[in-house]
Amino acid sequence: MKSITVKSIQIYTIAMTMVETLRTSFGEEPFKSAILVALETDAGVTGWGECSAESSPGYSYETVGTSQHIMREFLIPALLGKTIGDATEVPALLSAFRGHPLAKHAMEAAVWDAIAKTNGLSLAQAFARHLPADHQPRGYANVGVSIGIKSSVEATLEVINKRLGQGYGRIKLKIEPGWDVQLARGVRAVHPDILLMLDANSAYTLADIDHLKQFDEFNLLMIEQPLGYNDIYEHSKLQPQLKTSVCLDESIHSANDFRLALDLGACRILNLKPARVSGYTESLEIYRICVERNIPLWIGGLMETGVGRAANLAFASLPAVTLPCDISATDRYYNPDITEPPFALGAQSRIAAPTAPGIGVEVQMERVQAAAHHWDTANTYHK
Ligand code: MG
Repeated sequence: MKSITVKSIQIYTIAMTMVETLRTSFGEEPFKSAILVALETDAGVTGWGECSAESSPGYSYETVGTSQHIMREFLIPALLGKTIGDATEVPALLSAFRGHPLAKHAMEAAVWDAIAKTNGLSLAQAFARHLPADHQPRGYANVGVSIGIKSSVEATLEVINKRLGQGYGRIKLKIEPGWDVQLARGVRAVHPDILLMLDANSAYTLADIDHLKQFDEFNLLMIEQPLGYNDIYEHSKLQPQLKTSVCLDESIHSANDFRLALDLGACRILNLKPARVSGYTESLEIYRICVERNIPLWIGGLMETGVGRAANLAFASLPAVTLPCDISATDRYYNPDITEPPFALGAQSRIAAPTAPGIGVEVQMERVQAAAHHWDTANTYHK
């Protein structure tokens, strides 16, 4: 493997207009923000990474503002001029700085892309180099679709029918207190057999345990993060009382968090968002834990643009990622995206992982500039 030397790093803060806004128990964002990282090597190769921080600390404590600060003051200086033989060296280079996984992930992702391109490997091939020989990428990811909170069961069913018609084989519904049991019941009455799961985004407490037990009658694939966003312990009290598998999302930030959750019996499934655990190096460690313990794995999403979506698809094409992932086709989110070609849903609810070197998609610089201008104008304040 050829190493790279980091010559320059540029960041672009962007605002992307969404095809359809997603309402969760946190609320609704008017556009999707992101910080794109363009890392140039001495040899003239550009690696791209994406930081999915939002304008406000809702899903994560990190925001666009904190990520810009941490990147400019700490992460970028720690990488400039460094010769890097493998992207798995990046966490050690950034280890002096605590926290900020979304920002660190973007830096590491840019290095993965640059090194993979330098060596003529797709990202999926670059990831598989760190796994046993029988874990070669399949070339595709199993995917599903996530549906936000709507005004009624009928409005939700309309969207579900549209998504099933498009070929999505798994439906995830966002829920919150007051919008949960009657929703699941209404959907199951019409679709008794579809792969269905719910995501609570931390909207309940242990006091709701009897309420949460009602979900057991709906044959759900899982319920995601019912309790506190930073909790593992109370989930370990909840899971044994539910037939439905608990899947943790917000509260797992590392392989160690995941081991703790498994040992305490806090969950049976993990929603692995590579950004939430600081990057693909930590994600590979979590992948190995899932293989060892025979835990079903899937990859979540943060409504990434094509840059982040391509890389997550590559990871999701690894063979132990067996459950459908929250990686939808491009047209569910952006029209157009900042990369070409768009990702399309194929047969059997699959999306093909890119095969060209690195992230395998082309960043469209004029669209990046337009989205950066959108961010700048969206942050003009009026009384
Ligand atoms: Mg979630």
